[in-house]
Amino acid sequence: MSKKYTIAIVGRPNVGKSTLFNRIVGVRKAIVDDLSGVTRDRLYEKAEWNGVKFSVIDTGGISSSDDVFVNEIKEQAELAIAEADAIIFVVDGHNGITQDDELVAKVLYQSQHPIYLAVNHLDNIEQHDLIFDFYALGLGDPYPISAVHGIGVGDMLDSIIKDFKENEDTNASDSDDEDQIRIAIIGRPNVGKSSIFNALIKQNRSIISNIEGTTRDAIDAQFVDDQGRVFTITDTAGIRKSGKIIESTEKYSVLRAQMAIESADVILVVIDASTGIQEQDKHIAGLATEEGRAVIIVVNKWDAVEKDNYSMQQFTDNIREEFKFLDYAPIMFVSAKSSQRIDKIPDMVVAVDNNHKMRIQSSILNQTILDAIAVHPTPTRNGKRLRVYYATEVAVAPPTFAIFVNDPKLMHFSYQRYLENQIRENFDFAGTPIRLRIRARK
Ligand code: GDP
Repeated sequence: MSKKYTIAIVGRPNVGKSTLFNRIVGVRKAIVDDLSGVTRDRLYEKAEWNGVKFSVIDTGGISSSDDVFVNEIKEQAELAIAEADAIIFVVDGHNGITQDDELVAKVLYQSQHPIYLAVNHLDNIEQHDLIFDFYALGLGDPYPISAVHGIGVGDMLDSIIKDFKENEDTNASDSDDEDQIRIAIIGRPNVGKSSIFNALIKQNRSIISNIEGTTRDAIDAQFVDDQGRVFTITDTAGIRKSGKIIESTEKYSVLRAQMAIESADVILVVIDASTGIQEQDKHIAGLATEEGRAVIIVVNKWDAVEKDNYSMQQFTDNIREEFKFLDYAPIMFVSAKSSQRIDKIPDMVVAVDNNHKMRIQSSILNQTILDAIAVHPTPTRNGKRLRVYYATEVAVAPPTFAIFVNDPKLMHFSYQRYLENQIRENFDFAGTPIRLRIRARK
């Protein structure tokens, strides 16, 4: 299947959404936030079933916290409708249909996407009769499951994947064209993502604006720049179009960013010059590096700041200080409002995309490493010296280098950093992370 599908899990609190999420995605990875030291559960993960890859959203973790409970479960159901291709609605098999279940169901009736009703906590087959109560929700055949024990989950996933495949046949999409560069614009709310999206579309020839997703609301557009290059761009505005409060929550911004990053080559991380850098900017920017994408930092609303000759340098210094993990990303100062420098974005996107996919000949790479070692000899530990035998680029996007050594434990972090810097000095990897894999020579 070419299209990436997303499944959202909804339901009132404490029915087992989170357990089911973990059951489907395997062990949930926590985001350890380097900046605050806080560990956060991921609400969005990639998963695979019978060789088919998809993503799963745990809507339970996403809510506008100051909101009343009833709105919260409604919002989560609305989010699922806006973002997912299929929805798993979880209820508690031992409680019958509650008022809250009915509330969720009412929202879900508006969904164009298939809904799978999972009746949870049915730990053994004798309890399976309990599913019959739930036909009254009017959502078709319920699936008896036990998220804790993993019972029934596989059968439900079989059905979901089967439906995806059938849907795919009738919705052949050709948006996976290799020749185009896919751009995602990420950033916290109100930094100007949509404005940049619109400015880019307006300045360039839009060939198809709003490509219909197979089932989801249209969020992509395609444009050709003055040199005939084709770009696909994702507007991460998302659910906002239906005017929901949830849009402004941090967790939702992170979710949107994660979804956009997944299907892009180059990420524009947008910062608002008028407000300066905020904690949330760092969280969102960190996601792009995690996934190894090419990144450009776009400082928007440059029209709105009072400037002197030093402003750009000061802002740059500030970004370098706050976004240490993005030291390779070029910085652009733009205004979506006046369109200032918006026309420079496509060139920069192409440049970082090329760097992201660049292949370095092994002979040239090894010469670089040898030269680096000649200037700074390899470290020793307990009288044993690190020996570097050979380096080769094993992958692109991001460029990944295997370095074969006598003993990987002798590779000190600072020396690895030095080698990485030497590679960057000798080759233009602006805008792309590079990865070094230290391997023992076999
Ligand atoms: P998004 O939530 O990141 O997509 O942000 P929007 O594109 O909706 O913009 C948020 C607000 O900032 C809107 O009121 C825009 O008019 C305003 N805005 C966007 N870009 C600029 C800009 O370059 N300069 C100024 N002064 N305002 C801008």
